[in-house]
Amino acid sequence: MPMSTTPLPPSASFVANAFLEPSGPREEVIVNPATEEVLGRVTSAEDRDVDAAIGAARRAADTGAWSSSTPRERSAALEALVDVLASDTQRILELVVAETGCPITAAAGHQVGLPLDHLRYWADVARRPDLLGHPPRVTVRPDGSGVLGGWTVRREPLGVVAAITPYNFPFLQTVMKIGPALAAGNTVVLKPSPLTPYSTLMVAEAAQKAGLPDGVINVVTGGAEVGEQLITDPRVDLVSFTGSDHVGSRIAGAVSARLARLVLELGGKSALIVCEDADLEIAGKAGAQSITFHAGQGCALTTRHLVHRGVLDRYLDMLVARVGAIRVGDPTDPATGMGPLIRESAVIRTERYVHDAVQQGARVATGGTRGGHDRGFYYEPTVLADVSNAWPIAREEIFGPVAVVIPFADEDEAIELANDSSYGLAGHVVSKDPARAFALACRLRTGSVDINGGPGYTSPEVPFGGYKRSGVGRENGPQGLDEYTQFKTIKYHAG
Ligand code: NAD
Repeated sequence: MPMSTTPLPPSASFVANAFLEPSGPREEVIVNPATEEVLGRVTSAEDRDVDAAIGAARRAADTGAWSSSTPRERSAALEALVDVLASDTQRILELVVAETGCPITAAAGHQVGLPLDHLRYWADVARRPDLLGHPPRVTVRPDGSGVLGGWTVRREPLGVVAAITPYNFPFLQTVMKIGPALAAGNTVVLKPSPLTPYSTLMVAEAAQKAGLPDGVINVVTGGAEVGEQLITDPRVDLVSFTGSDHVGSRIAGAVSARLARLVLELGGKSALIVCEDADLEIAGKAGAQSITFHAGQGCALTTRHLVHRGVLDRYLDMLVARVGAIRVGDPTDPATGMGPLIRESAVIRTERYVHDAVQQGARVATGGTRGGHDRGFYYEPTVLADVSNAWPIAREEIFGPVAVVIPFADEDEAIELANDSSYGLAGHVVSKDPARAFALACRLRTGSVDINGGPGYTSPEVPFGGYKRSGVGRENGPQGLDEYTQFKTIKYHAG
């Protein structure tokens, strides 16, 4: 697939339904992580651009066509947006693969098909009275002789949402924020990662084509300083952030200080628990997936493999064989199972973690090098055995293709190890006994748990989010909608 021929979206911020001129003192050079070639340059928003984007979103929230639109109209607008995006899926796929390095076979589902499914869900929610509306109620006199009055509860939008997203699933993360925000009647200022802004700029392009009213979707490009300006502006009612816990904690401080609403979807160091009675084919597949899926650049990957001592050696053999069968290389090749990391700095970080763990006594069961690639930011899928849960390699999020294997003696120890983490995003239990697996899942202090491979699909209908340092609040489903709304009770007298 010749990525160089894929048309790029306009390379600057999008304010009040128009792209700004791509010229300014700051720009981000967007690099293809598989080839190290420059894909393009995106002008970073200046202070006045961020100010204008928030102003446009504020006007559309307070006085524009969006705030006075009906649920049906909002639903139709979201459907128009998803139709425009769905007509351009090949281009979205090519650009997502080019900017993230995610292998095309995985990207077609997780980075393009899944997000469009999510957006269709929110177009549907926008017109569902069971989720958006509350029927009026009346109170009658105790003797039943007449009506005293009544009340109704309105679910109202918050206003302006600042949505800040990470680099790894740029199209999905954008859609997961604009879906519920717009369905509930808010307007949005998006700030994509400076490493992968094209997916979000494509959504802006589609919003223009779909005829969304001015100011409903705005995009500001750039890095931390652009994000800081967004989160501290008093015109922003909700900051919805997906990214690392250290940036999330900084954002929480700034947003909480001005008592605005906050949703944080952060990192993880989730556990895969392989019970003594586990089907080792299922466990090995899940283990290999947790290392190689998007080169380990996924928040919910189960990178701590907690394995019953009775099956430890057989599991390790199975895992190493499975990982060895995965082809690492060109993400545009449909046979590729694992692509590069996002940048050289991510490879260096991964190398450092592996090096330090080996110094502490870890044994490299497979991987541990960059492999033989002549270009691109590659690191081989790596399994480390003989690891202690107390070491940094088992406690910190690496965001590279590395898993650690830690033995346990019984279920209590498995749970103790799994929950001995500052994170609490996901988990996975493999056991042939469904009741045992379910009971263990209930004991994990995490926002979600898969059992025996799980459904392999992140449904828009079920909440997603983390315990502890993995986040605050939930995305998706009715719980996700709640984050983007507030409730007003209107009480009236009958007399
Ligand atoms: P990051 O935290 O470095 O950056 C995320 C976003 O925050 C970027 O747009 C960045 O420009 C912006 N930012 C950085 N500093 C900021 C500041 N001071 N104020 C405002 N904005 C600021 O994350 P990343 O490296 O892009 O992504 C990887 C991280 O994202 C991992 O920790 C991963 O676990 C997490 N993640 C979480 C989820 C989830 O749903 N829980 C999903 C995907 C990724």
